[in-house]
Amino acid sequence: MNIAFYTLGCKLNYAETSQLQAQFERGGHTVVEFGTPADAVIVNTCTVTETADRECRQVIRRALRVSPDAFVAVTGCYAQLQPEEIATIEGVDAVFGAKEKFAIADMVQQFEKFDTPKIYVSELSDDLEFVEAQSGESDSRTRAFLKIQDGCNYNCSFCTIPLARGSSRAMPFGRIAEKLRELKQAGYHEVVLSGINLGDYHAPSGERFADVVRMIDQLQPRLRVRISSIEPNLLTPEIVDITSQSHVFVPHFHIPLQSGSPAILRMMRRRYKASGYGDLVHSIKKAMPHCAIGVDVIVGFPGETDELFEETFSFLHSLPITYLHVFNYSERENTPAAIYEGKVPPTVKKARIHRLRTLSTMKKHEFYRSQCGTEHIVIPEERNAETGMWSGWTENYVRVEFPASAAMLQTPVSVLLGEHMGDVVQGVIVGTAVDKPREHAAYIPIL
Ligand code: SF4
Repeated sequence: MNIAFYTLGCKLNYAETSQLQAQFERGGHTVVEFGTPADAVIVNTCTVTETADRECRQVIRRALRVSPDAFVAVTGCYAQLQPEEIATIEGVDAVFGAKEKFAIADMVQQFEKFDTPKIYVSELSDDLEFVEAQSGESDSRTRAFLKIQDGCNYNCSFCTIPLARGSSRAMPFGRIAEKLRELKQAGYHEVVLSGINLGDYHAPSGERFADVVRMIDQLQPRLRVRISSIEPNLLTPEIVDITSQSHVFVPHFHIPLQSGSPAILRMMRRRYKASGYGDLVHSIKKAMPHCAIGVDVIVGFPGETDELFEETFSFLHSLPITYLHVFNYSERENTPAAIYEGKVPPTVKKARIHRLRTLSTMKKHEFYRSQCGTEHIVIPEERNAETGMWSGWTENYVRVEFPASAAMLQTPVSVLLGEHMGDVVQGVIVGTAVDKPREHAAYIPIL
């Protein structure tokens, strides 16, 4: 049978879709590209925002236009939270919840359409099992996302993820080193440690996230390791200290702030203060002046007056951060914030988003200019067939393009950064990673 997949939402969802694909392939099925005729279609959904819900409906309709007789299964966060709503979408045969997600391949063998949609969604208990997942980015095998943590025990007032994914759980500590070796052997040069609340990693044997970071640093797995988003209260001085001296971890953090207003942070039930966040950013930059720091911000949270928004804006303006991911606050059912007063009109939200995105571009270009004349290791990822230029990312998350031969793929090179043109820095190759073994121990090939 031919089976197509579509993934919405975060990198973790992509990693889990890869896991599902592997299960179906082991069962003798063929994974085909979404949008081509298929016997079955599986949509892995997200529900972080209203747009994600809408997108899910559109995807199902698109799938059915190409393959009207295909068996359609929907899973993921939206499926866990709104199974009945999904079951009403025409053509949907089955809805699978978070607990059932990795049993789909066993539960659905024949892909025969049902007369009425079936719902396989159970309540999430506290003893959910951790299921491994990993995914590669494009076909280039340069970067893999490795899920080492899932679920969340926090209760941010705007977020449905703990309801959709259940409580925090983690990959066994000893398994992480094995997975890194497997990924290295599969040809990856970079691994992004991923999780829903990654910093809350807590192994069944008691190790915490700082232990993971120390273990990987000592392991020297011959690939570079990036930490995906980490909550500011969980990014401890110990983690900053290890990464600042590491030849394995890259100088790049993504730290959600959500708001720079102490009043809004309290209403969001976040577990840190804006002042503490500022201290953290400064301490990182002191230890690693070249470190890139990305920030998530939510705009238009209920009660965000002009004055409180200005607090966020000037706070971010004052910080040595590199870029922002700006999100429009989206009211989610069953969250405390859904009944908060002080809804922000869409036009006001739009104007605030625009201001923050402009600030983000300014910060990013400022950072790019600060890196001009410095040398970085880049893993060539894509080649523009028209210009012949390769592009990739530095360790500190600068998008760079440089001229090189077509055979460059997957050979880490040392690139001298020049001026930026928009969001891309122009560079030239000045050597290979192996030329600089001491600074770039992570890239020395296994002999
Ligand atoms: S930390 Fe907060 S925002 Fe992040 S997943 Fe947990 S509840 Fe949601």
